[in-house]
Amino acid sequence: MSEKDLNEKEEGGKTRNFIHQFIDEDLKQGKNAGRVHTRFPPEPNGYLHIGHAKSICLNFGTALKYDGLCNLRFDDTNPSKEDVEYVDSIKEDVHWLGFDWGDREYYASDYFDKLYEFALKLIREGKAYVDDQSAEEISRQRGSVNVPGQLSPFRDRTIEENLDLFTRMKNGEFDEGSKVLRAKIDMASPNMLFRDPLLYRIIKTAHHRTGDKWCVYPMYDFAHGQCDYWEGITHSICTLEFEIHRPLYDWFVDQLMDSDYRPRQIEFARLNLTYTMMSKRKLLELVQKKYVKGWDDPRMPTICGLRRRGYTPEAIRNFSERIGITKADSVVDVALLEYSIREDLNKKAQRVMGVLNPLKVVITNYPDNTVEDLDAINNPEDESMGSRKVPFSKVLYIEKDDFMENPPHKFFRLSPGREVRLRYAYFITCQEVVKDENGEIVELHCTFDPASRGGNSPDGRKVKSTIHWVSAENAVEAEIRLYDRLFNVEDPSGDKDHDFKEYLNPDSLTVLPKCYIEPFVKNAKPFDKFQFERLGYFCFDADSTDGKLVFNKTVGLKDSWAKEKGK
Ligand code: ATP
Ligand code: MG
Repeated sequence: MSEKDLNEKEEGGKTRNFIHQFIDEDLKQGKNAGRVHTRFPPEPNGYLHIGHAKSICLNFGTALKYDGLCNLRFDDTNPSKEDVEYVDSIKEDVHWLGFDWGDREYYASDYFDKLYEFALKLIREGKAYVDDQSAEEISRQRGSVNVPGQLSPFRDRTIEENLDLFTRMKNGEFDEGSKVLRAKIDMASPNMLFRDPLLYRIIKTAHHRTGDKWCVYPMYDFAHGQCDYWEGITHSICTLEFEIHRPLYDWFVDQLMDSDYRPRQIEFARLNLTYTMMSKRKLLELVQKKYVKGWDDPRMPTICGLRRRGYTPEAIRNFSERIGITKADSVVDVALLEYSIREDLNKKAQRVMGVLNPLKVVITNYPDNTVEDLDAINNPEDESMGSRKVPFSKVLYIEKDDFMENPPHKFFRLSPGREVRLRYAYFITCQEVVKDENGEIVELHCTFDPASRGGNSPDGRKVKSTIHWVSAENAVEAEIRLYDRLFNVEDPSGDKDHDFKEYLNPDSLTVLPKCYIEPFVKNAKPFDKFQFERLGYFCFDADSTDGKLVFNKTVGLKDSWAKEKGK
C-alpha cells in the first residue's frame, strides 16, 4: 500500500494520516468510551535518536490532537542491556522535544508481578508449558512458513509439573538457557509467531529497578500488549516490523480482556535517514569504541547530539510533521532535516560576525587607538530583535578566502586595488599585500573612505561585494568545530559484506582552533545559537572556558534541499 492510498487530504490542504483516520473511525463507532490514549515505549538500552523523535511526535502529538493522554513507558524487560543512565537521558530528551507525560511514567517492570500471575493463569489453563530445550533446538523445530513445526517433547507436561518448574525458574533454581516458558498455541500456524512463542527466559542479571527479585524476565511480545491493556492504552502505535506480531498481541489481549475495552496496535514505517543509521546497537558501538566523542557528539543522529549541534525542538517537530506517516519504508534525505533547522534558525538566530580563517587587515588611514561603535541589525527577519553595536578599529580580521591576489574573472571580493564594503562599516580599498619570507600573505594594507560610514555609498559609487570582518583588539577568540556527514555513503549499514564502520567519514570533524568573533558572543550560554553572517549557524558549546569559546557549526546557509527539489 502506498502512502497515497492511506492518507487523505483534509480541508485546508492538510493531510490526515492513516493513523488518525483509524482513530476517527474508532471514535465514530464509540470504541473505548471515546478515549484516545497512546504511549511512547522506549527500551532504556541507549540514547534516543531522530527516529524515536518521529515516534514521540506521533504518539504525544496524537494525544494532544484528540485531547487524550500519552504515557511514557520504559520497556525494561532485558536487564542485561539496560541502565538508569538511559532512563534519565530519555526523559530529558522527551521533555526537551516539548512533550510531557504528567505523572504517567511507567515501566514494564512495574508489571512483573502481574505478568507472572498471568503466566501462571495460562499454565493453569493449559496454554503454557516449560520447555527444557535450548534456544537453538527450539528454533530448529520451528519449521518454516510451508513446513509445520515439530512438537516439543516437553509440550505435554502436566499443569502441576509446569507450575512447579516455572516457580522454581523464578526462584533461580535453574541456569540461564536451561529452560523457557512457552505459550502452547499452534506449531502448524502459518504465522510463525504462533508456533509456541517464548514467554519467559531465565536471566540472572540484576535489574536496574527490581534488583535481584526476578530470575525470569518476560519477552517483549508477552509484555507489551498486556502493559498497554493495564494502562488503558487505546492505540498502540509501533513500527512496521511488529505488523506480523499483531495477531499474537491480540491473542494475549484476548486472554486478558474482561470488558469491551481493548488496545489496538497500529504500525507505521520507521524513519531512515541518508548518511546515518538508527540502530541503537550500532550507535552504542560508535560510542564505546570512541569513533565519536559520546552519545551527544554533534555528528550523532541522537537527540542529544542534534541538540548539541544546535537543533531546536521546533525544527525536529516540523521535520517530523513534514516527513509524514506512511506504511511504506523509505529513506528520507538528511538535507530535509537540515532544511528544517535552517528555516527555524533563520527566524530566530541572533546575527553576529565571526572570522573562521583570519587574515589581518590594517586600515592605514584610520586613527590609532580609536574604537568606533557601529550599528548592526540583530536579525533582518525579526525587527523586534533590534540592533547592537559592533566595534571597529584600525586592525581588523577578514576571511582569508575573501581576498585573492590574482583574482579570476568572477571573483568580486577584495583584491589589490579593489574596493569592497565591510558590512555595517566602511568601503575599503586594498593598497598593499604584505608577505612573509615564504611568500605567504600575512596582512593587507587598506584605506577606508570615512564618508561611507555604516557601509553606505557616499556618492552612488558601487562596490560588487560586501564582506564580514571583526576588530582584532575587540574580538573574542573561539574554537570552531565544523562537521561533515559521519558516513561517506547514503546507507552505511546497507552493505552486508562490509562493516558499517568502514564507511565512516575520516573528515567528519574539522577543528579551527583560532577564530575571531565579535564581542557580542562573550556572554553566550551553552546551546545559544547564532548566525555568523555569510557562514552559517553556530551553537555555543559547553566545552567553552573563559579563555576560549567553543562553537559547533549547526548547518550552512546554503539550502541544498530546497534547491535540489526546485522549491
Ligand atoms: P533498536 O534501535 O535497537 O532497533 P528500537 O529502535 O526498536 O531499537 P525502542 O526503544 O524499542 O528502540 O523504540 C521505542 C519506540 O520508538 C518504538 O515504538 C519504536 O517502534 C520507535 N522507533 C524506533 N526507531 C524508530 C524509527 N527509526 N522511526 C520511527 N520510530 C522508531
Ligand atoms: Mg524496540
